[in-house]
Amino acid sequence: MKKESDPQFDTVIVGGGQAGLALGYWLAQRHHNFVILDENARTGDAWRQRWDSLRLFTPAKYDGLPGAPFPGDPLAFPSKDELADYLEKYARRFSLPLVHGVRVDEVREHGGRFLVSSGDRSWTASNVVVATGGYRVPKQPAFANELDPGTVQLHSQDYKNPGQLQPGPVLVVGLGNSGAEIALEASRTHTTLLAGKASGELPVRHGRAAARFVLPVVRFAGLHVLTLNTPVGRKVAPAFKTMAAPLIRTRTKELRGAKVELLPRIAGVKQGKPVLEEGRPLDVANVIWCTGYREDYSWLKLPYQDGDGAPAHKRGVVESVPGLYFIGQEFLFAAVSATLPGVGRDARYLAQRITAEQPLAAEPRPALA
Ligand code: FAD
Repeated sequence: MKKESDPQFDTVIVGGGQAGLALGYWLAQRHHNFVILDENARTGDAWRQRWDSLRLFTPAKYDGLPGAPFPGDPLAFPSKDELADYLEKYARRFSLPLVHGVRVDEVREHGGRFLVSSGDRSWTASNVVVATGGYRVPKQPAFANELDPGTVQLHSQDYKNPGQLQPGPVLVVGLGNSGAEIALEASRTHTTLLAGKASGELPVRHGRAAARFVLPVVRFAGLHVLTLNTPVGRKVAPAFKTMAAPLIRTRTKELRGAKVELLPRIAGVKQGKPVLEEGRPLDVANVIWCTGYREDYSWLKLPYQDGDGAPAHKRGVVESVPGLYFIGQEFLFAAVSATLPGVGRDARYLAQRITAEQPLAAEPRPALA
């Protein structure tokens, strides 16, 4: 409910991960009146919460946000905690106005402005930017509920290390990058099976040499060739939003070398056991679902969707709801938009749009149609 005392801003950014921070940097450069609301206790927690051994695929030289290169060896691949700590220092260094421990549960239009609510707290703003990340709600098949209750099962979102697994074989479901990396780790302590089909592989070995010679080409293509401004970019964009990325670091050859048994897709569960497409049941003690995520904008009580229910925006600008913006989504503008090498450029573009369209501090906007 709206209260007279609600803090007022030109812009509220929902989500203080790398996308929210990068946008915050550019808005701060323009002396804009904004706040970043984030549900976590500390900046960087979205990375801290990922599995313990996770290292980035992108080398440090491409992991810095605007105004602050990632420190140290440019060809190294930072751990997830190093990245998290970098983000925390970044927010401090640029004095970004973050409020932690705030889970936004509703954004609606109120009197020509946006009313942003979290429980009994609320904020009003002329603009709202959704920077909540694409990895919100774990996806797993409905038949997961039919697994024998004695099976340890977890989604990759909750996987931390093999210590969570019980003795006995492990089935990893889903051959994307998370599935490949987690299966390789599990294979060091458990017999491991990996079910699924990869969407291709990086054609060269990932590592320092690739960071020096190959990843610059990949980054250039993702930043400048595969964009919504080019015919080839527009052609591949839909596939980027739905298909898994090719295997980057852990490829099938390495998995086979580690004695991971590669299997086709899991079709269902019979008598408590996962069953392959050909009907063969698998006797496993643990299942790790590396079956991806979906976004969740159920809290956005605004007409932001296209016919398929996805956010309808052009380069992050929602034309049907003036003042509403998205950042950090897959192929928002380019193939790298949802990653560290791409988010800074998208943030700069949005900051330009926001400050050009809303030059007056806390001025009421006309009511939404
Ligand atoms: P997030 O980091 O998810 O940040 C969103 C923030 O918003 C979070 O703090 C979240 O808690 C908060 N939030 C969400 N909803 C609300 C709400 N309603 N109210 C308040 N706060 C909310 N990219 C690379 O460039 N290199 C890599 O090597 C790489 N590796 C990856 C490995 C894995 C396993 C995954 C899943 C992704 C990886 N990515 C990588 C992709 C991408 O860089 C990350 O997903 C990154 O975390 C996305 O940043 P973001 O700011 O868009 O979202």
